[in-house]
Amino acid sequence: MGKTRTKIFTSDDVSRIESEYRLLRDNLYRCDKPGDDELIDKAFRFANEAHRDMYRNSGEPYIIHPINVARIVNQEMGLGSRSIAAALLHDVVEDTGVQLDEITKEFGPKIASLIDGLTKISGTYNKETHSLQAENFRKMLMTLSDDIRVILVKIADRLHNMRTLDSMPEHKRMKVAGETVYLYAPLAHRLGLFAIKTELEDLSFKFRHPRIYDEIARKVKMDEKKNLALINRFSLPIIEELNENNIIFDISGRFKSIYSIWKKMQSKNIPFEEVYDLLAVRIVFEPGPEMSERAQCWQIYSLITDIYTPKPDRLRDWVSRPKSNGYEALHLTVMGPEGRWVEVQIRSQRMDDIAERGFAAHWKYKGDTSVSENELDKWLKHIREMLANPMSDPLAFLDEFKMSLFSSEIMVFTPKGLLVNLPKGASALDFAYEIHTSIGNKAIGAKVNYKLSPLSTTLQSGDQVEIITSNIAKPEKEWLEYAHTAKAKTAIKDALKDESTDRIRKGMEMLETRLSELGVQPNSEIIKKLLDYYELLNKDELYSRIGLGLINLDELRKVLRKTPEGSLAKYWKLAIGGVTRKSSGVKESPPVPGTIDKSHPYLLRENIDNTGNSYIIAGCCNPIPGDEVIGYVDHSNSIIVHKPKCPAAVKLMSSEGNRIIPVRWTIHKLASFLARIRIDGIDRIALINEVTNVISTELNVNIRNINVSVYDGIFEGTIDLYVHHTSDLNNLILQLSNVKGIASVRRVEEFVE
Ligand code: MN
Repeated sequence: MGKTRTKIFTSDDVSRIESEYRLLRDNLYRCDKPGDDELIDKAFRFANEAHRDMYRNSGEPYIIHPINVARIVNQEMGLGSRSIAAALLHDVVEDTGVQLDEITKEFGPKIASLIDGLTKISGTYNKETHSLQAENFRKMLMTLSDDIRVILVKIADRLHNMRTLDSMPEHKRMKVAGETVYLYAPLAHRLGLFAIKTELEDLSFKFRHPRIYDEIARKVKMDEKKNLALINRFSLPIIEELNENNIIFDISGRFKSIYSIWKKMQSKNIPFEEVYDLLAVRIVFEPGPEMSERAQCWQIYSLITDIYTPKPDRLRDWVSRPKSNGYEALHLTVMGPEGRWVEVQIRSQRMDDIAERGFAAHWKYKGDTSVSENELDKWLKHIREMLANPMSDPLAFLDEFKMSLFSSEIMVFTPKGLLVNLPKGASALDFAYEIHTSIGNKAIGAKVNYKLSPLSTTLQSGDQVEIITSNIAKPEKEWLEYAHTAKAKTAIKDALKDESTDRIRKGMEMLETRLSELGVQPNSEIIKKLLDYYELLNKDELYSRIGLGLINLDELRKVLRKTPEGSLAKYWKLAIGGVTRKSSGVKESPPVPGTIDKSHPYLLRENIDNTGNSYIIAGCCNPIPGDEVIGYVDHSNSIIVHKPKCPAAVKLMSSEGNRIIPVRWTIHKLASFLARIRIDGIDRIALINEVTNVISTELNVNIRNINVSVYDGIFEGTIDLYVHHTSDLNNLILQLSNVKGIASVRRVEEFVE
């Protein structure tokens, strides 16, 4: 935050600093190892000297900020003396003349590396501010591999800045508040700092939407008295019952935070008055010796449900299976007095400590909570992997990191019952990659709860997932649309990159070898000749086709001798015109009806990526290469390809005949077209597997989507496929009709994607 060194500290300033420091020093939480006090005092003196005569925007001495960050670090996170020292020193290197070596000399390498992680990369802020922000965040995370405490101090720093954001200039407030809710609050949540997460969200919301914040705060305040009375009335019978059962406990009432009330209003699209779960009661118990903590949670649960009726779908058991951030508790919602729902949270003392102080508390209970600790360790390991494999774009990194914060929100199972954690919204494909990259790369479908489902299926907690693989399957570009985890995305991108560069390299080598056998040096003239002859747009496409074996190099000599024909040049120009129009939006030489030479068919060229095509496949009849086709030049001069028998085409032919042009497929068997087939039959075990097997062994066919339902032993479904040509499709239909149990297989011509 802003700092200036314009005047000399007054005696008021000095005594203010002194009293703030005493607040920290006199209330240290569990800091009683020998040397702790000395280290903290030394760090304070050092920082105080370095920040001497510096003020914050608020007008307070600057050192008040590091002192308060240190208090948060100790009292709200439970961290020890080194972290307190790091918090006191956290702005010294960035904002004063002190160098990192001095810190190393005075405080040793450990604290120095914490400070280094907390120091921003220097750079000009007006240039690519976003990237610099992202880059700084990444740098901070890099230190994770050494020490998680850097992040914790950083969160404490952010929390104090948010608490004092009022004194920031307005344009900076938005940036800080936005970044807080985007990154720091989820990060705090991920680390189990629930109270801090809630406060960060509320503060950020307050600055981003001050009017709505005030409105909700006012309504909460208005009902406060009434609600307090309600909570008291609600709690009394519980207190009596727990006392009777000799349970030592603490009970407290709480209101939903303003930000979560607002989120509820948004997501459910309801007014404040209809948010029903505003009230919660928390019971923290001292575990007795005769029962496990878990059993005691359930004992209290049953005592409460003897009094109040629970809402069955609102039971949350994070005791048997803690949240991935380590949170353990039993939550239930019951019908309270006046017909109001009240949430009850049941936690042991230990669970409460972990919930409130987060990560640091984990170490305190190390050994007791092996499950949740493993979860957190797994996440940290994942972050380290991401950092070890840096992506070129820091913003992309930021996005993926952000995704990882929400990781492990659902739990799914392998067929053998092993638990796999995935982010909310993860697909079957993500699951495949989570198991192993090689499984992901070979996946063709999944069985979710024994039902055949496409890889794009969104998984739900509790699903059992089996991945169907095929040795000839390969990652597809469109997989990126339903891959959510960083792991899956990275693996798919890698595979796609490998595949196409391999192909291009191989093709280039093959061509060069062949040319040198003919005694020809490869040059641009020759390449151009080949591009013209094979009707291709660029070199990579040419190499790629050679690499795939789609261009026969035996005819090379013949091709090179040939001079281009006039008619070929004409198509060439037309096609270029079409492509240019689509990609740049510049209408250069559109095929205007009437000027098109209808005596020669327009060539439907294929494009490897299926992008930049100069024509559109009509959705009403979905023609694919091999089908008889006609073209219609529409009013924005795009060529729409129909089957001549398609009713829509028939209508066009009769009403706008001058816009109909002859078209012809150019077949290189590379581009894929979407087709749908329909299968009916009698359900029997393994039928689906056999069908998928038949499809997966057909080399020229790729499954895009499978939709199957079974009613009383009758099985019916549609399969969407990518094929190159009708012959592939016909061949597949023939193969499928030979499968035992299949009654009919036919192509569906009318479908909308
Ligand atoms: Mn700071």
